[in-house]
Order: sequence, then structure tokens, then C-alpha cells
Amino acid sequence: MSHSAQLRQARLRATPRRVRVLSWLAKHRRPVTAEDVANRHQSLSRMTAFRMLGDFANHGLVQEVRYRDGTRRVEYIGDRPHHHHFVCDHCGVVEHLHLKHESHILQSLKQSHGLKITHHDMAFAGLCRSCQ
Ligand SMILES: [Zn+2]
Ligand SMILES: [Zn+2]
Ligand SMILES: [Zn+2]
Repeated sequence: MSHSAQLRQARLRATPRRVRVLSWLAKHRRPVTAEDVANRHQSLSRMTAFRMLGDFANHGLVQEVRYRDGTRRVEYIGDRPHHHHFVCDHCGVVEHLHLKHESHILQSLKQSHGLKITHHDMAFAGLCRSCQ
């Protein structure tokens, strides 16, 4: 699917600016800040980039990755399977974690607590292999 079709499917207007930013995000493997986006797109102020990333997150096009230093980054979702992140406290490296037993946890929350989980958020932090 093209990026403009993706925007429309997410119920956002496919403005040329949004299409450009979304395509750029899709090429990036590392989570990026609004500042990174503004630096790469001269026509965008930091505030505009910040708002645009917020819209993308609210409409399910990007996933927020929170760092313990308070910076908020986003990562393009596309057709990547659901996963979580580990961020190294020392060097900031990001690892994409595909948790094997996640669906069992969600299922057991439903069974033992009667909860229907529609959203969850897990973040992992610590030291990566080379910083230990
Ligand atoms: Zn999950
Ligand atoms: Zn590290
Ligand atoms: Zn990821």
C-alpha cells in the first residue's frame, strides 16, 4: 500500500507533507524524535513535526517508544508484527522485542480477571550486552 493510501485508511488527510514524513519514517529502523523529523524536513517546524507525529500515533501509523530520559520517539508500524522495546540506559541502543508468551498473558488476564485488554504498554530498560 502506498503511504498516501495508508494515511487515508488511517482517516488522515494525505497531504504532501504527511506523505513525505511517513515515507521517511518507513525508511528508518530506529525510533525518531520530532526534532529529527524537523531537522530532515526544512519546511517543518519542530512544533508541526511534534503534532504530526502525535496524529500518526493516535491513528495507529506509528508506535511511541518512551525513553527514561523523557524523550519521546516514534517508530513506523507498517506491517511489522506487534512488539515492545528495550532501551539501554547507558548508550541508548534500542532492541525490538518479540515476546513469545505475550498472547498467553493477555488471555490469562481475560480468564482470571474478566478483563478485555484493548491496549497495553510495556517498556524495558537496563544495560545492553556491550554496556554491562
Ligand atoms: Zn504487547
Ligand atoms: Zn548499551
Ligand atoms: Zn520496534
